[in-house]
Amino acid sequence: MATINNVSVLGAGVLGSQIIMQAAYHGKNVTAHDISDELLAALSGRWEWMREHYRRDLPDFDERRFDEAISSIQLTTDPARAVADADLVIESVPENLELKREVWTRVGESAPSEAIFTTNSSALRPSDFAEATGRPDRFLALHFANLVWSNNTGEVMRTPATSQHAFDAVLEFAAEIGLEPIALAKETPGYVVNSLLIPWLNAAAYLYVDGAASVSDIDKTWRIATGAPLGPFQVYDIVGFKVVANVIRNTPDDEKLQHFGDLLVERGIEQGRTGIADGIGFYVY
Ligand code: NAD
Repeated sequence: MATINNVSVLGAGVLGSQIIMQAAYHGKNVTAHDISDELLAALSGRWEWMREHYRRDLPDFDERRFDEAISSIQLTTDPARAVADADLVIESVPENLELKREVWTRVGESAPSEAIFTTNSSALRPSDFAEATGRPDRFLALHFANLVWSNNTGEVMRTPATSQHAFDAVLEFAAEIGLEPIALAKETPGYVVNSLLIPWLNAAAYLYVDGAASVSDIDKTWRIATGAPLGPFQVYDIVGFKVVANVIRNTPDDEKLQHFGDLLVERGIEQGRTGIADGIGFYVY
């Protein structure tokens, strides 16, 4: 089995930053890449935010190990340098097909020939950009859930072109970095989690746009009636409005949903309130 030690994470946003830390905390050599020095500098604040969560959520949390993870992470804005020594490249750039194709074309030109490639795409079909990598047999999806350290599913999904070797290597890697590996037998946009979650979130958006009930009442109803810990708008805050707005743009014919997306942009993203990561979304944290 291929040993994966050197991991490059492309995109250090909401999920990318969590993936970077999860892999580094589990002893991998991580190179983090984003498009500007400012975005990479902002990671130091993200580490401290995550430290609080790790401390609270992980009974065996080790402060020193967390510090060592932080100092081991290499940061670069140079896309070719980012993947030069990679055993595994994890892409976590925004949910936009053209952008993913562009990024993967570049990675395919720069990464070592034996490297394995995974996308963290939430709702796109990996097959739709597999060819851009130049090596579709080594490309598949490894899908992380938000709050990676505690919501630690690692959904591993192959395309029809993915080799068994790459599939097995990524399942093994997922376990090594503290995830619960889930093997998807068939390419399914949205995996297990988003196939269930997105229709539920959309239903909440329709209630919102229709003015059927308040955000807090919708959430309260769901929590009390089903025993679930969180209502849909609490989940919107965790996912982050930028990701939601991007996912919504992939269904341009759904007018109500597009309206909801516009509201998220105008009242949320443009005002600097994109969810828990900003301390404010539908709720204040
Ligand atoms: P985000 O917008 O917070 O982060 C994306 C990052 O990618 C940004 O920092 C951006 O500057 C960077 N980026 C943009 N263009 C780039 C490029 N060419 N090269 C390198 N970096 C680039 O988004 P996110 O929430 O981290 O989502 C990233 C991916 O993960 C998406 O495909 C999303 O669907 C998926 N995902 C998100 C969640 C979630 O709950 N947020 C969960 C699972 C999967």
